[in-house]
Amino acid sequence: MLTITNARLHTGYHTDAAGVVTTMTDLFTIKTSEGKIVAIDHQTDELEGDIWDANGLLAIPTTRDLHIHLDKGHFGGPWHAVVPTNGVPGRIREEEEFLPAFLEFLPERATALLRHVSATGTTHLRVQVNVDPVIGLQNYEIVRDVLVDHAHLVTSELVAFPQHGTLHTEQNGWLTKAMEAGAPILGGLDPFWIDGDLERSLRTTFDIAAKYGREVDFHLHTSGNLGLFEIQRILDYTRDYDMVGKVALSHALALGDASAGQLDELADQIATLQVSVFTTQPISYASGGGTSSVPWPTLMAHGVRVRVINDNINDHWSPFGTGDLLERASRSAEIWRQSDEKSLAAAYALVSDGVLPLSDSGERLWPNVGDEATFLFTNASCLSEVVARVPRQRELIVRGVRI
Ligand SMILES: [Zn+2]
Repeated sequence: MLTITNARLHTGYHTDAAGVVTTMTDLFTIKTSEGKIVAIDHQTDELEGDIWDANGLLAIPTTRDLHIHLDKGHFGGPWHAVVPTNGVPGRIREEEEFLPAFLEFLPERATALLRHVSATGTTHLRVQVNVDPVIGLQNYEIVRDVLVDHAHLVTSELVAFPQHGTLHTEQNGWLTKAMEAGAPILGGLDPFWIDGDLERSLRTTFDIAAKYGREVDFHLHTSGNLGLFEIQRILDYTRDYDMVGKVALSHALALGDASAGQLDELADQIATLQVSVFTTQPISYASGGGTSSVPWPTLMAHGVRVRVINDNINDHWSPFGTGDLLERASRSAEIWRQSDEKSLAAAYALVSDGVLPLSDSGERLWPNVGDEATFLFTNASCLSEVVARVPRQRELIVRGVRI
């Protein structure tokens, strides 16, 4: 039964005569019991039980990473940069060779990466795990066990991800076997480009998902009009298979290439079908290569659930990434010039799965009595400062337990 004293919470926005907005906060005592918040008040004396003095640190919602790979990383082992190769097909050939040899290191490296992202303030992971003809369900089973062992740090959901292609993987029934093993989400990968047959690939994915009552989550890297067409067909299938609220588009790079008219039209459909969009907010490469950042402010204005994710952290696909979603929120705000007080704070919804301390008009939305007692404490005066400056200090409370 932890009690937190001197916790800084948001109390509202103040607008001065010139229209400049600042954030107001105050210090509170937060009492918890059985993992829940039971009181938020100003009591400071005659407190009982286990007491932690937050000493004025700011309490904000923890981060939730809705797309991360824990099963193919160098993180937790010796440093490796990537080996030059020719795009996605070359990478797939590369991993076909090393996946079996990687198995013995997998528990240790998945654990290292999970603990690393947990320490940044993340308390939920949607984990993409390879299901392919080389490794079968072995990665799935090992990562599932690692997640069970760390359930006190992170809640989780697993995506059975056909990295080597949906059709190629299902030829031997591996995706069906993953569903029968209990995987809650069925993945997909560039159905046109990797499978070479957009319609057959989508039909296979949606048939399996419908049969087992599962959500689907596609990796989509195709840019330009072909990528936009692929997204449109996924939306069509979502409608036809009655999968409203059960489909996610990871990366969806083509959304960054859409004209304003195309984007408005697609965003309306994506919002209506409650399709989620998960993006790393990639930085455009100076050498070209067509990677565009998904225009999250426009999509959010249409009501789309856009979330910013880590994806891979120092693996054979990319040596980059710190695992810190506060950094990703900051980059997302910077790319789209969200730099005033309220816009910076609103960008945090990208990494907290929509949970914000204040509404746009300044009412306190979080935390409330009855909520799970899970907080990230950091040294900042308000959430806008967190997004802009990415403070280093992190103190984590998960369901009433100090981690
Ligand atoms: Zn991924």
